[in-house]
Amino acid sequence: MKVVLENLTKKFPSRDRKNREDVIAVNDFTFEIPDGKLIGLLGPSGCGKSTTLNLISGLLKPTSGKIYFGEEDVTKVPAEHRGIGLVFQNYALYPHLTVRQNILFPLQNLKGKDKLSKEEMNKKAEEAAGLVQISELMDRKPAELSGGQQQRVAIARALVKMPRVLLLDEPLSNLDARLRLQTREEIRRIQRETGITTIFVTHDQEEAMSISDMIVVMKDGVVQQIGKPQEVYDNPKNLFVAKFLGTPPINVFDASVRGGKLYIGEEGVLEAPGVTDQECYAAIRPEGFVLKEEGAFGCELKALEVMGRDISLVIKNSASQNPALRAIIGSDTPVDVTKKQVRFELKPQKVFLFDRETEERIFC
Ligand code: ADP
Ligand code: MG
Repeated sequence: MKVVLENLTKKFPSRDRKNREDVIAVNDFTFEIPDGKLIGLLGPSGCGKSTTLNLISGLLKPTSGKIYFGEEDVTKVPAEHRGIGLVFQNYALYPHLTVRQNILFPLQNLKGKDKLSKEEMNKKAEEAAGLVQISELMDRKPAELSGGQQQRVAIARALVKMPRVLLLDEPLSNLDARLRLQTREEIRRIQRETGITTIFVTHDQEEAMSISDMIVVMKDGVVQQIGKPQEVYDNPKNLFVAKFLGTPPINVFDASVRGGKLYIGEEGVLEAPGVTDQECYAAIRPEGFVLKEEGAFGCELKALEVMGRDISLVIKNSASQNPALRAIIGSDTPVDVTKKQVRFELKPQKVFLFDRETEERIFC
């Protein structure tokens, strides 16, 4: 099911007595989510992710704008008639019910022509449980399950009616690191198997990047960029997006362009053909540094961290905004650790320039 958001806006009245201005939690969000895709809605806490999801689910009403499921305008359709499945961070299972009863619950409320026989309900519950691989836990109570298993039950419960759209709000945040990794792969698999259009909310960029067909990066209620994860990573539109994606984070320097050349400090580090002379920011991905004795860019070497496949050089440069920078180089590159200074050549496609005022991308 295709989902279309059209100029979607949600304002909340201010709770602050001194500042009476409305909070604009979602500001003019327009996007067509293609049928059968998994979309990662990504941004820092408070940027409007949950509000967006709750607008799509129908738990909240928009201040203005429209929502379509396929060709149907669902803006005024109540949540229970939208055909959505919802999963939250806290699994919100009924503690006194067994796993089976929890999964059956949404089916038991069906009325009229949608009403199912006991056998049909049980079959659907078994199928949903099979999909999330908890078939052998059906007679347990939630308290007898691990966090990861509880979240699977919640996902099964959301899937049992075969929703038109599956909405997941930070579903992995309560799980430990290993389970988080495993469960996100599971969600990806289930999404592929069912083909249900899914919106996955997270503040964790790595999580969103790893499982999404497309990501939407939000800040202060405003969509910053939409695209395939790799495209957004390789081509950030503004400094916020560049800084939000990537681990270790991108390295940001005060820089300038003079005579078609990019300067960091006094060093001319890269050609910047066609860019007018100006002060700007230069942001360099950690993998954009190539260790070279005659390289144009010099940094102080502070430490060396070996991380299996890669070596991370902790470096310092007076033009940098971050106190410690990280350059990632292949572990087969010899590094003389006694050196206090290192020099780099920069990979042009890993260096982005941004306007000092607007923080928008300057394209070379
Ligand atoms: P996120 O899920 O990205 O952390 P939210 O969508 O929960 O962000 O919130 C976005 C903004 O809207 C925040 O500034 C938050 O304080 C505000 N907000 C959310 N819900 C309400 C509400 N019911 N009343 C007032 N303000 C709200
Ligand atoms: Mg939230």
